Amino acid sequence: MIIETNNAKETFELGVQIGQKAKVGDVYTLIGDLGVGKTVFTQGMAKGLEIDEPISSPTFTIVQVYDGGRLPFYHFDVYRIGDVEEMEEIGYEDYIYGQGVSLIEWSNLIEEILPKKRQEISIEKDLEKGYDYRKITIMERE
Ligand code: ADP
Ligand code: MG
Repeated sequence: MIIETNNAKETFELGVQIGQKAKVGDVYTLIGDLGVGKTVFTQGMAKGLEIDEPISSPTFTIVQVYDGGRLPFYHFDVYRIGDVEEMEEIGYEDYIYGQGVSLIEWSNLIEEILPKKRQEISIEKDLEKGYDYRKITIMERE
């Protein structure tokens, strides 16, 4: 599925819709260059999960846990990960195969440990279509 957005609000609203539909155990991976809108999308998803807490980028921790919503939300940012072993050290399986919804930014860096069943989301710019244009691709993998 491909969705095109032309401003940050539309990307946020797409995140809201996905957050509203998300079920226990769902894993979403999120890739895209810096400044493309990953945080905007993630904030929308949190709203869709009825989380009131502000979503920050987990810069120094690999995973940030939000417990206040409809379901626990596990927000991973693995941008600074050196080795997949760091995922083992934080006990990532308890999150990803647990009772909440996981979103993993920069998931391409930990490809080998991603669950087979996941929703892959990528956000891309296309400057020919305008500075605020984004192409968002959502692909279900089994
Ligand atoms: P990332 O987390 O991917 O580094 P951010 O979400 O922090 O990126 O920033 C995205 C920036 O791009 C924001 O300043 C946002 O307002 C802007 N923006 C412009 N158009 C869009 C769009 N269509 N979707 C998402 N963000 C957009
Ligand atoms: Mg970000």
